[in-house]
Amino acid sequence: MDLSKETVKDSVNLLEVNNLNIRFYSNGREMKAVNGVSFDIKKGETFGFVGESGCGKSTTSRAIIRLLAENARVPDGEILYNGTDILKLSQEKLRKIRGKEIGMIFQEPMTALNPVLTIKKQMYEQFLGTGMTAKEKEEKAVEMLRLVGIPSPEKRLKEYIHQFSGGMRQRAMIAITLAANPKLLIADEPTTALDVTIQDQIIKLINKIKKQMGMSVLLITHDLGVVSQMCDRVAVMYAGYFVETADTLTLFSKPRHPYTKGLIDALPSTEKKNSSLMPIKGTTPSLSELPDGCPFGPRCPYCQEKCTLELPEMAEVEPGHMVRCHFSDKLIGASGLISIEDGEKQ
Ligand code: ADP
Repeated sequence: MDLSKETVKDSVNLLEVNNLNIRFYSNGREMKAVNGVSFDIKKGETFGFVGESGCGKSTTSRAIIRLLAENARVPDGEILYNGTDILKLSQEKLRKIRGKEIGMIFQEPMTALNPVLTIKKQMYEQFLGTGMTAKEKEEKAVEMLRLVGIPSPEKRLKEYIHQFSGGMRQRAMIAITLAANPKLLIADEPTTALDVTIQDQIIKLINKIKKQMGMSVLLITHDLGVVSQMCDRVAVMYAGYFVETADTLTLFSKPRHPYTKGLIDALPSTEKKNSSLMPIKGTTPSLSELPDGCPFGPRCPYCQEKCTLELPEMAEVEPGHMVRCHFSDKLIGASGLISIEDGEKQ
């Protein structure tokens, strides 16, 4: 588990998101995809979003570079990048930040990269407006491919993305994105489509480059294993809400939300005597018909009457550890030992 805090250069926030709400409108229905999300990312820090598919991770991260679908609206919230609200930027100013200050890599490089342009052409687009000479561009492009571990970079620069294997495609996309020297890298499920060996290589690669370049990273994943290898801090998302945020060690050792505990219990473990997985029962609620109370209530083994009536607020349970649960002070013990004090459980 990479829990060293030496990667966090200082406590200055590079990104600060306050009370972000995002709605989608389709077929006359409103979908509450992101609900009152607040977080910050410090310089040099890796912050993770984790949660089941459809909980709003990608939507939140895409809002940061204003890449939302046309049917999306942002009724409330601010996204401060170095103190400037991205939601209020003109298109011209946004272009200076998107791809340059904030880079994004995706699960599937084939959809993110242009199939009819060579890697070199796509890399060179990142150098537009930098005043670099042809020689400097060539050297930087080769250096970037070498940095991400692509052999024979001079030759491979002239190739197209379809000529690369899965792991090499991911590396090429990372190299092109990082050629612009972004200060924040948004990595949306960057290893999900890869086999475990290559997944491990890409995780190590992002960790290494992040340290070398002093970048911050926002990592989106449904995989707690990836979180443990990459993140300094993490937010657990459920039905568009943050339900728990903490530093990674605290989240794994002292989870306080039943959903987080459920995710941890569902992890395969060699230490558990009974190695069978314990998946969380039930399914996520429809975002157009969220329950009145706690969104996790219908699946929560500890649901009380209050949980069905009142949405819990995010509350600090210890410094830096926030939980959205009416009974977070009563849910005690490590993963697998959840209990509610006598008399509280229905
Ligand atoms: P995640 O990244 O956690 O898998 P997403 O952010 O992609 O989740 O999606 C959050 C929710 O918003 C999902 O229920 C998804 O179906 C819905 N959604 C995403 N894009 C649109 C859209 N353009 N129109 C309607 N619903 C959308």
